[in-house]
Amino acid sequence: MLGHMMQQELMISDLLTHAEKAHGSREIVSREADGTAHRYTWAECAARAKQLANALLAAGVKPGDRVATIAWNTYRHIEIYYAVSGIGAIVHTINPRLDPKQVSWMMDHAEDCHVLFDTTFAPIVAAVREQCPAVKSWIALCDTSKLPQDAGELIAYEEFIAAQSDEFEWPRFDENTACTLCYTSGTTGNPKGVLYSHRSTVLHAWCGSTRDALGIGAVDSILAVVPMFHVSAWGLIYAAAMVGAKLVMPGANLDGENLANMINKEKVTLMAGVPTVWLGVLQHCRANKVSLPSVQGAIVGGSALPESLLRAYEEELDIPMRQAWGMTETSPIGVVNAPLPAHDALPGDELVKVKLLQGRRIFGVQMRILDDDGKQLPEDGEVSGHLQVRGPWVASGYFKGAGADAFTDDGWFNTGDVAAIHPDGYMEITDRSKDVIKSGGEWISSIDVENAACNHPDVAMAACIGVPHPKWDERPLLIVQPVPGKKPPKEEVFACIAEKCAKWWVPEDMVYEEVLPIGPTGKILKRELKDKYNN
Ligand code: ADP
Repeated sequence: MLGHMMQQELMISDLLTHAEKAHGSREIVSREADGTAHRYTWAECAARAKQLANALLAAGVKPGDRVATIAWNTYRHIEIYYAVSGIGAIVHTINPRLDPKQVSWMMDHAEDCHVLFDTTFAPIVAAVREQCPAVKSWIALCDTSKLPQDAGELIAYEEFIAAQSDEFEWPRFDENTACTLCYTSGTTGNPKGVLYSHRSTVLHAWCGSTRDALGIGAVDSILAVVPMFHVSAWGLIYAAAMVGAKLVMPGANLDGENLANMINKEKVTLMAGVPTVWLGVLQHCRANKVSLPSVQGAIVGGSALPESLLRAYEEELDIPMRQAWGMTETSPIGVVNAPLPAHDALPGDELVKVKLLQGRRIFGVQMRILDDDGKQLPEDGEVSGHLQVRGPWVASGYFKGAGADAFTDDGWFNTGDVAAIHPDGYMEITDRSKDVIKSGGEWISSIDVENAACNHPDVAMAACIGVPHPKWDERPLLIVQPVPGKKPPKEEVFACIAEKCAKWWVPEDMVYEEVLPIGPTGKILKRELKDKYNN
């Protein structure tokens, strides 16, 4: 017997309509390229999204067409998110930090028909447009007066939407329709496209707004540092509309000073970004004796949260940090480090240990760990194995059938991460499969070694890689980016590592790099370091 409940498809446009109706006067503040702040409301955002929807239809965009963006976090990018998916087309977000060859490869693979881009990315457009003959129009996110001169024939976004009506009835269609396409950076082989649906996006936003996930509500002012060009800014654009939060969009300036200024001016309560971003904000606050009194929490993900960063935020800035783990393939929320009642009584140092785990199970994402032979491993917090996940916002395959071997016959996605699961449901990433260091047949967690090294006050960032060794196959090498002007001695850094890790995990040697190479998604490029230090 079926229940007698309404069957209403989950539509992204409903999020915007809700924000317009229930929280119409709540603000979205964006930093423009010239540094000025643009302010408007969710109601104005909805009106302009409707204008854009009308403009896209007039330009011949059909359901299922791919419309690409190369853009910062700004109000116009939000309008594109809602308008493109709202008419049943697909937003293909392109990471501008990729090199133009990869960008044109992705545009070709995605078969993008229109490209909307921030004027700062005009050089990328100039470099790729010859290779992308299928693109019908290149639309610069500006008015006619600011059109870049050297990127070929362009349309100005403001002109594109100006004559269009702001009346539009969002169509309803199958909730499994694709809405967004985001390629993983593809450290091995070609990038692979993850194709989100309206259903997965709305469910993910719902989960994200709950107290034990990102924990956001109407009273929040959210600084979305995590880029809209990578995993939809962790779903914040949708979750904020769902709850009616204020959105603060930093545009192109992601340095510590600009972010700290925006945080204080817009009274940000919650902020989300990768550890390197928070390191920049911390350094600015320390150097200029700045505090961030409005902030009630920072979400950190994308790579492991170093203990030194966690302690600095909690002890110096009085800002609780909440770690989360996820991937492009998981929309991205996979686990979140929200406290349990049992943690109330823990002494400070024990609590820090818990907070350094990637997070615990949330409803919607199931996890398991397997050994090399595919046998499921116990969740004892001791053994680690290949982490697999499944759930309604986890990818079931890649765009155009790529990378099928990442998906198991019994319906799980193989994350490529190596993890342990603790009895209370907390998951602890020990490595990415490709970064694992195998020394004398045993695994060394490069993440643990890096985190311990970062406990030295003069280490800004650290990368631990495996290098060939005649006796042990591989031994760890530590590469350190010192705090500017410092040179932490090897013995001291190794003492920090010995304090936290097994003795044989202490690296063979340590070298300095003034600046570690950072990839397009804000992570240290270990591949590059491995190539450099292989001998
Ligand atoms: P890409 O693969 O394109 O670099 P993703 O954002 O999809 O980008 O990267 C996902 C990976 O990032 C995860 O598989 C994991 O290795 C790493 N990661 C994400 N969050 C954390 C975290 N909190 N701790 C450790 N690693 C993390």
